[in-house]
Amino acid sequence: MFGWTIKKVKKTVQCFNCGVDVDPEIAFNVKFNTAEGLHTLKSCQACADEVNEVLKAIEEARNDNAM
Ligand SMILES: [Zn+2]
Repeated sequence: MFGWTIKKVKKTVQCFNCGVDVDPEIAFNVKFNTAEGLHTLKSCQACADEVNEVLKAIEEARNDNAM
């Protein structure tokens, strides 16, 4: 007797920050501008939240300076 296991092979992407494998369907795109142009990184939910917090802080700091 032969047992077969059919497994759906899903290609995952790796989070740029913590290196965890993320399902591309739920991965977050983190876009940022550098001197070389626009870069897009893939990240997991937790790191996307972290990046959002940092971006928010930068945005707030900019607004403070503008006033
Ligand atoms: Zn991560």
